[in-house]
Amino acid sequence: MWRVRWPVCALKLTVANPPQRMSPLAMSADTAFITGLPKAELHMHLEGSVAPALARKLAAKHGVDISDLHTGDDTYIWEGFAGFIVSYDRISQVVVTQEDYFDITRDYYVRAAGEGLIYGEAFVSPSHAARKGVSYEALIEAVDAGMEAAERETGVIARIVVTCVRHLGPERAERVARHTERHPHRRVTGFGMGGDENFGRPADFARAYAIAGGAGLGLTAHAGELAGPESVRAAIRDLSISRVGHGVRAGEDPDVLAELKDRGITMELCPSSNLALGLFPSVASHPVVRYARAELKATISTDDPPYFRANIGSEYAKVAEAHQLEANELLAFTRRSVEAAFCEEEVKRALLERIAAQAVATSAASR
Ligand SMILES: [Zn+2]
Repeated sequence: MWRVRWPVCALKLTVANPPQRMSPLAMSADTAFITGLPKAELHMHLEGSVAPALARKLAAKHGVDISDLHTGDDTYIWEGFAGFIVSYDRISQVVVTQEDYFDITRDYYVRAAGEGLIYGEAFVSPSHAARKGVSYEALIEAVDAGMEAAERETGVIARIVVTCVRHLGPERAERVARHTERHPHRRVTGFGMGGDENFGRPADFARAYAIAGGAGLGLTAHAGELAGPESVRAAIRDLSISRVGHGVRAGEDPDVLAELKDRGITMELCPSSNLALGLFPSVASHPVVRYARAELKATISTDDPPYFRANIGSEYAKVAEAHQLEANELLAFTRRSVEAAFCEEEVKRALLERIAAQAVATSAASR
């Protein structure tokens, strides 16, 4: 049987509420338990995942000064959404070569595996790489090798979701989609769209999505983060997506929530990211658990983890703590992520078996 292999110390968690307030199952929801809990992540931007320690190394290598962008305690400095974009863009400048892409990919997944990640998908943007002279094929080759290396070291399985950038317009998006069509790669299993949700309309990108869907890729798109619930409805209607990036603001319109539920669309929710950008004042007020209990396909991800003082382990821990979750309720987030994953059926089956085994072990331990 699968055994927990992750180091207990990998997660810095303080359980503010005393254990007696928790159910018997949730009593095990302490640091060790949550670190060892298998996790899956569907929404993480590769260039937004670079830890400050690695960013400093890359900055030194390329002679870029980012000393004003991070603190001594290893977090990035930014204020407001505009400040976040500036900081993100400048930090992204330290990722220049194919080797850098390999390094950031391997580094992220080895660290995430230490927090319990068993499966992850990375949003990889060829438009950003092209600015640095890294071609689509070179980018995918590097990220694939980084994921392969992390899997060899830790067992974590990862796949690539190629993303276009909404505010660069439909033509660029179609160009990105054509890359996926012309250069199929076993590790590239999804297509998505990030960038400014308020630029244009989802319908403008329908052609790009048709190309990527025709190439056999799973489809997701950012909506309902900074734009309102109508952006979620339009993305669902026009882009044939099975997942929505964030979608958290769907809750502002019960009809949109009902549509997500009826169509079985998975929500890639990122609580710390939403808090940092001011959408909700606290994890307790974030709807991630409310959505899950309403039988929506709610999942947990980190988005751009170091910018939000997050990692996948702390994200699960914060949600567990704020909502006093029972162990199997927490594990259900992992199950829903794997069910919605853009990966091969046999991989999905094996991951689901692993999650089921953990659920049985957790229940047995609580008796
Ligand atoms: Zn995102």
